[in-house]
Amino acid sequence: MPRSNDDLTLDGNAVGGTLSEVFGEDLTGAEGTCPDCGTAGPVGTLRAYTNGPGIVLRCPACDAVQLVIVRTPRGLRHTARRRLGRS
Ligand SMILES: [Zn+2]
Repeated sequence: MPRSNDDLTLDGNAVGGTLSEVFGEDLTGAEGTCPDCGTAGPVGTLRAYTNGPGIVLRCPACDAVQLVIVRTPRGLRHTARRRLGRS
């Protein structure tokens, strides 16, 4: 039996070091808004899944993917759907 996702869930704070590598600053306290459900909050409160080939951060309210970070031989790549910072 595969373990359920809940067993593997961390929060955004757990990947703060990787976020710093990608963005050059600690983003765990950065406010953002989910593009799907509009829930706002700091990146540190997102659900982090780190058991795949990369890191996936999901909205804690609707589970929509917010940020994907993949480590490749050429460095870290990321895709962001979440609107970050003040806009
Ligand atoms: Zn959401």
